[in-house]
Amino acid sequence: NKQVILRDYVSGFPKESDFDITTTTVELKLPEGSNSLLVKNLYLSCDPYMRSRMGKPAASGIAQAYTPGKPVLGFGVSRVVESTHPDYKEGDLMWGIVGWEEYSVVTPIPDMHFKIQNTDVPLSYYTGLLGMPGMTAYAGFYEVCSPKKGETVYVSAASGAVGQLVGQFAKMMGCYVVGSAGSKEKVDLLKNKFGFDDAFNYKEEQDLTAALKRCFPKGIDIYFENVGGKMLDAVLLNMNTHGRIAVCGMISQYNLENHEGVHNLSTIIYKRIRIQGFAVFDYYDKYSKFLEFVIPCIKEGKIAYMEDVAEGLEKGPEALVGLFHGKNVGKQVVVIARE
Ligand code: NDP
Repeated sequence: NKQVILRDYVSGFPKESDFDITTTTVELKLPEGSNSLLVKNLYLSCDPYMRSRMGKPAASGIAQAYTPGKPVLGFGVSRVVESTHPDYKEGDLMWGIVGWEEYSVVTPIPDMHFKIQNTDVPLSYYTGLLGMPGMTAYAGFYEVCSPKKGETVYVSAASGAVGQLVGQFAKMMGCYVVGSAGSKEKVDLLKNKFGFDDAFNYKEEQDLTAALKRCFPKGIDIYFENVGGKMLDAVLLNMNTHGRIAVCGMISQYNLENHEGVHNLSTIIYKRIRIQGFAVFDYYDKYSKFLEFVIPCIKEGKIAYMEDVAEGLEKGPEALVGLFHGKNVGKQVVVIARE
């Protein structure tokens, strides 16, 4: 069983050398009397929150820290090989938390493991559009942003797994949508594939406040926050009265020992801005409603979706580390096996 192991707790930017690829010969067995599954892992998801699990336990965020010497854990799409769980049988497909390894033993937990019912879509989509990032975009936009037709929406890290979907949901709602991303290729995708009204490369702007003023001469009603830091400061100066900021993530801060200060917080008072953080797992009761909405959108071509696919478990560390340097173009997936 080939595995990706975390060598030791990470500080600063994660590096490929923080991980080892090893092979164990220990036979995987389902514990007696347990409701467990032996699964073959097909696709793995690279997600920015995994960085919080690489730090020492006290430094980790909502999710538990990884254990050095043990496989990395993350969302994946898997096929059931053996089951002692009443709801699963051999051959069933599921998505949820598994080890970064070829085979895992899993005890399904509600809101962590989901049986895949719709198999007439690409299975890798359950790492992104149809999985945790898709639900994040859906819950974050519709539940947290309180959007209204005609409003102006700004999305940062807009070409990524979550951002590309938020922008498209906002367009469906009849909003004016601008995204930012870190390369020309990504900016072109935002404008030409994902249907954003406008987009800019934040790395090429001398003055982010001025860039946002240029894109939003009448101000921003909704900011979908994925990056934090300087960007949040610039956004605060461009927000409209009664604007909303949904704080989904702050990837620019995840590898810093000391987080950057945000200076323009007093605008929250003058502009009566609502800033709300959220976590996707509070919204999984809406997952089936989300699938009913989004699967027809995929089939009718109303949603565009882009994946960046790394082939083979060995490529996992490189793909994961790449998120923090903007290497991924679209949702970063690692393929272990296709069936
Ligand atoms: P992405 O697919 O967008 O990948 C990460 C992207 O972030 C990179 O491609 C890069 O794009 C951008 N980035 C990396 N470093 C920086 C930086 N220093 N400054 C600005 N941008 C940077 O990831 P996801 O769509 O999966 O996640 C997006 C955000 O959503 C993350 O902050 C994540 O933590 C958060 N999240 C929150 C959830 C919740 O429940 N609250 C659930 C899931 C995700 P670029 O080239 O444009 O810089």
